[in-house]
Amino acid sequence: MSDKIKVATTSLAGCFGCHMSILDIDERLLELIKLVEFERSPINDIKTIEKADVGIIEGGVANTDNVETLKAFRANCTTLVSFGACAVTGGIPAMRNQFSLKDCLEESYIDGVGVENPHIPDDPEIPLLLNKVHPIHEVVKVDHFLPGCPPSADTIWTFLTELIEGKPISFPYTQIHYD
Ligand code: SF4
Repeated sequence: MSDKIKVATTSLAGCFGCHMSILDIDERLLELIKLVEFERSPINDIKTIEKADVGIIEGGVANTDNVETLKAFRANCTTLVSFGACAVTGGIPAMRNQFSLKDCLEESYIDGVGVENPHIPDDPEIPLLLNKVHPIHEVVKVDHFLPGCPPSADTIWTFLTELIEGKPISFPYTQIHYD
């Protein structure tokens, strides 16, 4: 049986930029895959979540599918990580929160410049949008927050190695300095 740490990741209302930043750890990826095994993740395209040691969530919570996915991660992951600005604060997707959902839908599908065949999509396959976009800690308990848009590769590396080694998470100033 593998003694590697099991890691699951997903993107809710995010742009996958945070996931791309994981790839920026470059050759350290070879070191990482000696330590971790990926469960559900865009990296292996597994769509269901099994028990995992660490769940890493990119993106805010914008629709009913996001809520379901997030709750499944919380139920199956020992440690849950809010990964990147959109998960931590709602980020870019939460910019719509200053308008009503009705106004957002009408601007996007009816009144916006260049809209053809104006109608608001209502296919039952499409997850229902929430009235507001939420940071993930407003929906489930979060164990660690890793801010940044995206968090830098070095910040991710520090976080993952310290977490895997069971050390207190501590960053040098340069890794949590954003301007
Ligand atoms: Fe994309 Fe930035 Fe949001 Fe990450 S925090 S999902 S990079 S917009």
